[in-house]
Parts: sequence; C-alpha cells; structure tokens
Amino acid sequence: MMRIGVIGLQGAVSEHIEAVKRALAGSGLRGEAIWVARPQQLEGVDGIIIPGGESTTIGKLMKITEIFDIVKRLAESGVPVLGTCAGMVVLAKRGDEQVMRTKQPLLGLMDISVVRNAFGRQRESFEADIQIRILDERPFPGVFIRAPAVKEVWGDAEVIAEFMGKIVGVKQKNIIAVAFHPELTSDTRLHEYFLRMCYE
Ligand code: GLN
Repeated sequence: MMRIGVIGLQGAVSEHIEAVKRALAGSGLRGEAIWVARPQQLEGVDGIIIPGGESTTIGKLMKITEIFDIVKRLAESGVPVLGTCAGMVVLAKRGDEQVMRTKQPLLGLMDISVVRNAFGRQRESFEADIQIRILDERPFPGVFIRAPAVKEVWGDAEVIAEFMGKIVGVKQKNIIAVAFHPELTSDTRLHEYFLRMCYE
C-alpha cells in the first residue's frame, strides 16, 4: 500500500489529502495520504506533496522542523515530489528579487528560476483552461491564486504547461511543479499521474 506524505505545515494541506483520496479511488491504486508535520513521518513514503500557501512560511517551517533536509534527500534518491504553487517556489533553484531579499529557503531540487506573484495584482486569482503535456488532450482547469511562474528552465527540467506566455508547469525526472492548484478542482488527472509515478 502506497503512502503519500503531504507536507502539512501551512497552506492547502487537507485539500491535497482529499485530492489524493479521490485520485486513489479514480485510479484503483491502494494507498493513503498522511499529514506530515514531523520528519519521522516521511520514513518510507512513496511520494511527497508540497502544497500551496505562503512559500516563505512553508520553507522556514520546513527548516525549523528539519523536514527540509529529509525532503531534499528523499527527492534526490528518486522519491517522486509534487509541488503546487508555493510548493513550486520551494522546489526551485533560483528565485526573483523578492525571494533573494527575504532569503527564503529553497530546496533547489529543480533547474528552474521562479517569479513570485507573476500574474500581477489585477489577476490575483483566476481560473483558466490549460493544456498539461503529460496528460491527455483535454484541458485542465487551472486555478491560479497569487500564482508564481517559471522564468527560466535549464538542465533536466522540461516545460509541461504554459499560460499567457508564461511557464506554469515543469517536470524534472521524479519531480513535478505546477503554478496552479489541481487539488482545488474535481479533476484528478494530475494527482493520478503523480500516484502512478509513486507506484512505479
Ligand atoms: N504567492 C505565494 C508564494 O509565493 C503562493 C501562493 C499560493 O500558493 N497560492 O508563497
């Protein structure tokens, strides 16, 4: 039975736990989602989700709880990781001036640079259909909330989604990051894709 650890320090944690449950039911895979607040709870997990919220807070709390180093080590050893919105920021190698100024901790697991709140004040939150290249052709309902975007990708990072000329989804080997919130929709395709990565 698969165990998916959702980093539960701040942000949309219960929404991801519910989304994993729906995706498990939809895919017929057996597993559970666990709310991770202590590093020991990550022992033996098959996958890790870093939710949306406030990336500065999530990064700092991951450091304080020592979850930060464990996630980094597990991801480097091949455990699949899904980061959404703030989770995308935390996964990045480089950030914009705001990230540098606040010195927020970045896991540096993905060859991407990120811009926080990339869609500006006028469009703080919105929903838009987007195409995700690793899924089927059907558009995915992208829920964007003060969303970041990826400015540059290099190395092994591949772009999997774009919107308004900005990169909003990236995959690098065992790690996926999206700027939007798949857990806030009833579309379970991205979570199901992630669960299959965790199952392999
Ligand atoms: N703008 C937020 C950040 O960078 C992310 C917003 C979100 O996760 N909904 O922390």
